[in-house]
Amino acid sequence: MLARDALAALDTADPFVSLRDAFVLPDGVIYLDGNSLGPLPRATAGRIAAVVEQEWGQGLIRSWNDAGWIDLASRVAAKIAVLIGAEPDTVAVGDSTSVNTFKALAAALALRPGRHTILSQQDNFPTDLYVADGLARLLGGEHRLHAVPGDGIAEAIDPQTAVVLLTHVNYRTGALHDLEAITNAAHARGALVIWDLAHSAGAMPLDLAGSNADFAVGCGYKFLNGGPGAPGFLYAAPRHHGGLSFPLTGWLGHAAPFAFEALYRPAPGIARAVVGTPPILSLAALDCGLDTIAPGALPGLRAKSLRQSELLVELVAQFCPSAGFVLATPAERSRRGSQVSLHHEHAYEIMQALIEHGVIGDFRVPDILRFGITPMTLRYADLWDAATILARIMDSGVWREAKYAVRRTVT
Ligand SMILES: *Cc1c(COP(=O)(O)O)cnc(C)c1O
Repeated sequence: MLARDALAALDTADPFVSLRDAFVLPDGVIYLDGNSLGPLPRATAGRIAAVVEQEWGQGLIRSWNDAGWIDLASRVAAKIAVLIGAEPDTVAVGDSTSVNTFKALAAALALRPGRHTILSQQDNFPTDLYVADGLARLLGGEHRLHAVPGDGIAEAIDPQTAVVLLTHVNYRTGALHDLEAITNAAHARGALVIWDLAHSAGAMPLDLAGSNADFAVGCGYKFLNGGPGAPGFLYAAPRHHGGLSFPLTGWLGHAAPFAFEALYRPAPGIARAVVGTPPILSLAALDCGLDTIAPGALPGLRAKSLRQSELLVELVAQFCPSAGFVLATPAERSRRGSQVSLHHEHAYEIMQALIEHGVIGDFRVPDILRFGITPMTLRYADLWDAATILARIMDSGVWREAKYAVRRTVT
């Protein structure tokens, strides 16, 4: 049996407990959704105000040079590169993850002429599947998306497979792929791999360079704390830079944008992944988000996240032994990301009741309650409090109130 005192003692001994002070967190809320939208860093509001009032308001267009706006995306990209174990000058920041997936997939397919299958998983995040299907159609019909059920992805790679498109951490269950093993399996059969790191960048140490990854994409607003709609990123391994051809050939990916030449000439290396004018306000916020994460802290934060996940599972079992929750997240440490997902027949209603009672997670169809574990802000005692509130909601049956069944646009 776990006791609240024991959890509070873990907080006292936690070397990361003060990281929480770098964020604005509302009173009375236990935030278990930093994997969907990272919390607001304290530094962000002041930085945005300065960018708006001084750089934009006073500097006007001069700020592209004087305030370094023109290089902001590459400075932000360099910070992300360190977090994901990428080589220098291999990451571009801008556009949404969906758009970056399109760009990376088109570039990867162009590197594997004669092969026509994009291999993915049926329960991959839908945008990856939609983008792959849309691109296959745009390419004229020879290419096709093959989405396999379950986990047999490595076995499904065959001589027709051009690209394997996978999400590192499953958004529903939190199941984690072995990035290096699948990358090696693809390479052994002549295919390339694109990793969607939406739920792993900033959540765990990553070593794209050491794992021989080909391409990767990811979100700025989840574990990177960049704010709603923050730009995403795209990684391409240096060995692919020579033949790198992106389908969106915008002027800021040109070798000499301000020469305004009539014909497109790609910028060297990853710089050609840039399409158009960068969103400076969003980039400034993403820069503040990245500054909350010390790359050297990631191994320790990962260990804390795994421990917190296990404690949450234990507490739910302790407080709600017969409420019908079934763990959807793999128990094995090397097989899960930074979330705890539970199946329940009434997951939607229970999550709405939880949110109203101050515990914010989210619901994913068809029956998943998803709790993101963000060890920079989450205290051990919060887990106890969250499980207690869950128990109260289940024991009282308050989740059955009609208002909790009303479906809102965003779940
Ligand atoms: C959140 C998420 C996205 C989001 O893509 P956007 O284009 O930023 O909306 C993409 N892929 C995965 C796996 C995600 O979890």
